[in-house]
Amino acid sequence: MLILVTNDDGIHAPGIAALAESLAPLGQVVIVAPDRDRSAIGHALTLHAPLRADELTPGVFAVDGTPTDCVNLGIHGLLPATPDLVVAGINRGANLGDDITYSGTVSAAMEATLMGVPALAVSLGGETYTASEYSNAGGAALFLARKTLQDGLPVDTFLNVNVPSGRIRGMRLTRQGRRRYADMVVEKLDPRGRKYYWLGGGECDFEYLDGTDCHALHEGFISVTPLHLDLTNFQSFECLSLWNADYPVG
Ligand code: MN
Repeated sequence: MLILVTNDDGIHAPGIAALAESLAPLGQVVIVAPDRDRSAIGHALTLHAPLRADELTPGVFAVDGTPTDCVNLGIHGLLPATPDLVVAGINRGANLGDDITYSGTVSAAMEATLMGVPALAVSLGGETYTASEYSNAGGAALFLARKTLQDGLPVDTFLNVNVPSGRIRGMRLTRQGRRRYADMVVEKLDPRGRKYYWLGGGECDFEYLDGTDCHALHEGFISVTPLHLDLTNFQSFECLSLWNADYPVG
């Protein structure tokens, strides 16, 4: 098996080393990852600048681009063949609820899915990020990678996996939860008396509803959320289709 490992925390982050080590029993692991922390870069693709890939050691490439760039470059350039699986992570910090739209980790898995390669995004929750917690998350990644390679994933679907810190009570299949946004912008003065703003500085929380990713993680379970690429809200067709009928023609 050929496995492409990437992340958004950068190639020097402890999570990617733990992930590559955990997946090594499955076959050949090639790392293609950003050369620095690109967290919250979302699904950004570099179209107006050249990309460089620096092979730090055999099979370990640092790219001066985004996680999405890395998946592109990995699949279409750096790897000897199309990988059997792409795994992104292990992210430092959970990727839950509405936050996944910002996540470079989740976007890397999304990009692989767009290219027809099965993919997992793996993140570690909590605040401590110890070696043993990364190792636990690596174990979950290995388990799900094995399942994915054996059984495949439903079409256009990838898994967003979040592993709790501390003792793990089990694994739950979850739906995407909701973020409660409050005071997300912090306003301060710089040393010269000019205002500046800092995003995401306020207290944030999730709605801990049963069945959601954030609830499972909160309860000490590994959260596995199957995500798909079609963002269409089919339920809205019934009420919105009336709008089209009202459009004046002729
Ligand atoms: Mn990150």
